[in-house]
Amino acid sequence: MSTTRGPRAPQQPGHVEVVCGPMFAGKSEELLRRVRRARFAGLSTEVVSHAVDDRRGTGSVSSHSGLALQAAVAADVEALERHVRDVSASGGLDVLAVDEAQFFGPDLVGTVQRLAGVGLVVLVAGLDVTFEARPFEPLPSLCALAERVTRLTAVCGVCGADAAFHERVEVAPAVTGRAEDAQHELVGGAESYVARCRHHLSHAPWL
Ligand SMILES: [Zn+2]
Repeated sequence: MSTTRGPRAPQQPGHVEVVCGPMFAGKSEELLRRVRRARFAGLSTEVVSHAVDDRRGTGSVSSHSGLALQAAVAADVEALERHVRDVSASGGLDVLAVDEAQFFGPDLVGTVQRLAGVGLVVLVAGLDVTFEARPFEPLPSLCALAERVTRLTAVCGVCGADAAFHERVEVAPAVTGRAEDAQHELVGGAESYVARCRHHLSHAPWL
């Protein structure tokens, strides 16, 4: 029988931290900063990104400011859980960092909670808002179930205010005269989007 008075010490260190926001808010940079801090503290870390995120090459997560860390890639939550099991089996794992979490879909919520439940610190970074200024699951649900949530903003390209949103730049075929160029812009990467404060959104869904 325990003789300790007051609250008991936590049995497990597991918890969830979410870093979310629109594009260009520095989410990956903040995720990598936390991973580096954990490594300085002597913790075992693993960074995983989604397989569709090949913007800067697979096998690493990098921020716009040039920070980069080696990362595994997973195509879905099953592959993510399998990878975590493999890493845990071969030497242990303290901190799991998941970047581009929005690509994993709603099943990520249960996976993250389970991993935190068995003692992992799970850091999750991703978009929580679509380019149409609507909530983008699973990040909003993950925020509701996390111990710590950091919502970052970008800088509005029009006025310089905090930008909680991003939107797609629509390039009319008239710009180049070629429809395929406009189509390319619509399926392009970060260069097809701009950060916007709420006052400079072109198509706010609540208006
Ligand atoms: Zn603005």
